Amino acid sequence: MQYISTRDKDVRVSAAQAIVQGISAEGGLFLPESIPQLTMTEIEQLWSMDYPARAGFISKKFLEEFTLTEISHSVNRAYGKQFSTEKIVPLVKIGANDYMLELFHGPTCAFKDMALQLLPQLLRLSMEKTNAKDMVILVATSGDTGKAALEGFRDVDGTQVLVFYPSEGVSPMQCLQMTTQEGGNVGVCAVKGNFDDAQTGVKAIFTSSDIKEKLAKKNLAFSSANSINWGRLLPQITYYFSAYAQLMSRQQVASGKKRKVNFVVPTGNFGNILAAYYAREMGLPIGKLICASNKNRVLTDFIRTGTYNARRDFYTTTSPSMDILISSNLERLLFLLCDGDCERLRGYMEALSQDGQYTVERDILEKLQDVFWAGSCDEIGSQTAIANMWEKNKYLCDPHTAVGAEVLRQYREETGDDAISIIAATASPYKFVTPVLNAIGASPQGDEFAQARQLEKLTGVPCPAQLLELAGKAIRFHECVEKDEMAQFVLGAI
Ligand SMILES: *Cc1c(COP(=O)(O)O)cnc(C)c1O
Repeated sequence: MQYISTRDKDVRVSAAQAIVQGISAEGGLFLPESIPQLTMTEIEQLWSMDYPARAGFISKKFLEEFTLTEISHSVNRAYGKQFSTEKIVPLVKIGANDYMLELFHGPTCAFKDMALQLLPQLLRLSMEKTNAKDMVILVATSGDTGKAALEGFRDVDGTQVLVFYPSEGVSPMQCLQMTTQEGGNVGVCAVKGNFDDAQTGVKAIFTSSDIKEKLAKKNLAFSSANSINWGRLLPQITYYFSAYAQLMSRQQVASGKKRKVNFVVPTGNFGNILAAYYAREMGLPIGKLICASNKNRVLTDFIRTGTYNARRDFYTTTSPSMDILISSNLERLLFLLCDGDCERLRGYMEALSQDGQYTVERDILEKLQDVFWAGSCDEIGSQTAIANMWEKNKYLCDPHTAVGAEVLRQYREETGDDAISIIAATASPYKFVTPVLNAIGASPQGDEFAQARQLEKLTGVPCPAQLLELAGKAIRFHECVEKDEMAQFVLGAI
């Protein structure tokens, strides 16, 4: 199976090349030229497999040039003891037809681990297959990706990972997770400003021919661990199938019958929900994909009206990983919805970069609304959802997951659809302990560790050990630079 670019129909590369390159030279995103189909029998067979085997089965469909041994070795390393539960991604029932798909039991307590534990294995293999140079992986993070990339790539041969996070915006726990990171090939630096400043700075470094030349002299090349890389997206498809398999094993959906379920996804860069769309296109019986946004509701407006307008105020919220105005992965969905019409897609993307907005035609909007439903909520909505979820269901959720819970409530109210609905629970509440305490009516006391113990005492929900252990770790990275000093940091680190 070959990979094509969203913006140039003459580009065709292997899976390994797509993963090494990250992004196509003309700026397009890579995607598989066709979508593999699973029969209901195959989907049902996943039921009897453990999580790594499910991941291996799905991955093989997209990585034809990788051997079964390579893939099974990779998934076993990715989804092993570093997860706090053998199920890897447990499905927890929280209401009559509502479930939480807990994606946060990995080493960094956020769903980014699902992809970033596997990507380094896939990248290593892809580097071998393409005779690539050693890689410098640059990451701009709003909090969760940075730590997950550091943890995934630490001490991986032939790679070095450098993370920039905004000095304003990440939670204290997220900050400590990054600044205490261990490993011989890692670097972390704060950037004065917000996430957009860090992201713009990283993009400038990526495209600077001066820096690329300096890198080439040392026989190095840049790569990306952000969700523009297909190797980040692919691992996320598995857990949607895995959720369905778990429903079958609970006999909530009967074997031999297609019972459609909805997925609710707290969305920022559109990576997670795009993986759900792929699962649907591969044959998983999914009804609606419910796209949940926080106060930065650019996607809600787009899915409801067909106009994507990024020219609007940016809000900093307690769900920082969803504070995004340009959702990169939407480009892949639009490509699929306009049946691979690169020219049409380039039109949208050019309008977005020139005017900050575009409007899709009626036919695209209809296809979009056929699958997606969208809703959003502000800070009060998310806080209320945390409180309700705790009081009514004794389920403690983080502010991102809470946005999903609130939007599911809106969906049920507006549509009356009472089908089984599964919320992607994207982070542990202990990563965002202050807003969670506030939401359940407690007043946070002391530093983040004192607050974590306070939350444990109040709820009985244990704090993940890897977060508590941060208290005893030395801070290794203190640097904080201006946006225009980021390049110097990179050159100093390599
Ligand atoms: C990254 C992230 C999201 C958003 O996921 P996208 O794939 O960017 O849409 C939601 N919640 C949490 C906790 C995250 O870390």
